[in-house]
Amino acid sequence: MKQVAIITGASRGIGAAIAQRLAKDGFAVVVNYAGNAAEADKVVGAIAAAGGTAIAVQADVSRTDDVRRLFEQAIAQLGRVDVLVNNAGIMPPQLPPLAATDDDTFDRLVAINLKGSFNTMREATARLEQGGRIINFSSSLVGTLLPGYSAYVATKAGVEAMTAILAKELRGKNITVNAVAPGPTATALFLDGKTPELIDRLAKMTPLERLGQPEDIASAVSFLAGPDGGWINGQTLRANGGMV
Ligand code: NDP
Repeated sequence: MKQVAIITGASRGIGAAIAQRLAKDGFAVVVNYAGNAAEADKVVGAIAAAGGTAIAVQADVSRTDDVRRLFEQAIAQLGRVDVLVNNAGIMPPQLPPLAATDDDTFDRLVAINLKGSFNTMREATARLEQGGRIINFSSSLVGTLLPGYSAYVATKAGVEAMTAILAKELRGKNITVNAVAPGPTATALFLDGKTPELIDRLAKMTPLERLGQPEDIASAVSFLAGPDGGWINGQTLRANGGMV
């Protein structure tokens, strides 16, 4: 039986690249999505066409019941869960300074980025097989601390803190917990609402002078999910071309 990886938010962007990479690495993958069934089906189709195993499961990670159902469906259809990749996240295109951030924006960021990661981690602690891996998603903005990102960065700093603490709480279970913190990466989340000039300026912030591609981030996740990453635990790995 193949090892099984759940990737949250895998219908598009970085999550879609992770799903395809982990399928290539030999995992059967669960392509989770919130609303975009057609895009999730495309990812499943591409994996199947390449000879891999994948299913699509709708679940809003901010909802406890949805997350329970996500794991139940994964186990019912694929038999087990070995890896959880907590990639689902949002970042509204226009983020104002803290003083002008409205309640709805703050609450949505916390519900999806922070509570969503908490929900799936809590479920994973009861469901993951021995030798399992949890890989969370932070952001290199936790390091750059650019103005305008206070609410978003607060959710990601919380994810980094939970990562380190859960790694210790899982003592004796042979499960590692790490986070990946991408820098600017060419997906809708980063590109939407930005001018070409701003995108170019942000890309040039890294000494490698380009945006990350979803596949660059998928490579880091593949390392943490695979045999070579087994001794890394409780860490946040910044995958950003050297920006910070
Ligand atoms: P995208 O906006 O391209 O994709 C987001 C994905 O998350 C989609 O598959 C979407 O599903 C899913 N999603 C959104 N809300 C929920 C929810 N409530 N429940 C389940 N799934 C949900 O984002 P990226 O690929 O760019 O980002 C992936 C992760 O990387 C995020 O955690 C982000 O914060 C982080 N990151 C990204 C950076 C970047 O520059 N791109 C930089 C640093 C960190 P659907 O299609 O159904 O809407």
